[in-house]
Amino acid sequence: MLIAVDGPVAAGKGAIAGALARRFKLPHLNTGLHYRAVARQVLLNGGNVDDEDDAFDACDFPIELLSEPHLISELIADLASHVAVFPAVRQALFEREWAFAHRRGGAVLEGRDIGTVIAPDADLKFYVTAEPAIRIRHRFEALMEAEYPIELREVAAELTARDKRDRERAQAPLRAASDAIVLDTSQLMRRDAVTAAIDAAEG
Ligand code: C5P
Repeated sequence: MLIAVDGPVAAGKGAIAGALARRFKLPHLNTGLHYRAVARQVLLNGGNVDDEDDAFDACDFPIELLSEPHLISELIADLASHVAVFPAVRQALFEREWAFAHRRGGAVLEGRDIGTVIAPDADLKFYVTAEPAIRIRHRFEALMEAEYPIELREVAAELTARDKRDRERAQAPLRAASDAIVLDTSQLMRRDAVTAAIDAAEG
């Protein structure tokens, strides 16, 4: 079974994708980490995230970079959405993500373009969303838990700018696939959102 989980920042994709992977014993890939690793590698190379060649060169980041604690930062998240606009970067990551998605036995992939670009053939697609104020609060609380020092208004500004960049870019803009199940988690506790997704998957 191949499952796609897409949606904007901090709508609850991670919890849902993780729970689906455990429930159906499938490997799980958070593709946001790829874009974050590219951005981090651009910085390590002394490059510029708004330069397509620098961003493309950073696509061969070492695999260990994916577990670097810096990747959770708001700075890297923001820079990730800069490198994500470039076709050369998306193409390089497409190859890895397509291979992960289409391995024998299935997978759960989480990101912005899984149901639309990486795996339009997915058996099940979710588009997880929530009202901006709720997503801002979730993201702020997650950063607090990770002991990442930031103010609520900075989180609000970063999240709003990143959503806009993700929705307005020319290449693979964030949108729900026409056959996705839209799950609005605004009024749901995390546990209930996860249960709703598993119920939908078990049909
Ligand atoms: O999901 P996460 O917040 O880690 O993603 C960081 C950024 O990477 C997103 O804001 C988006 O610009 C980019 N991204 C993307 N396509 C994906 C996953 C992430 O463009 N499939």
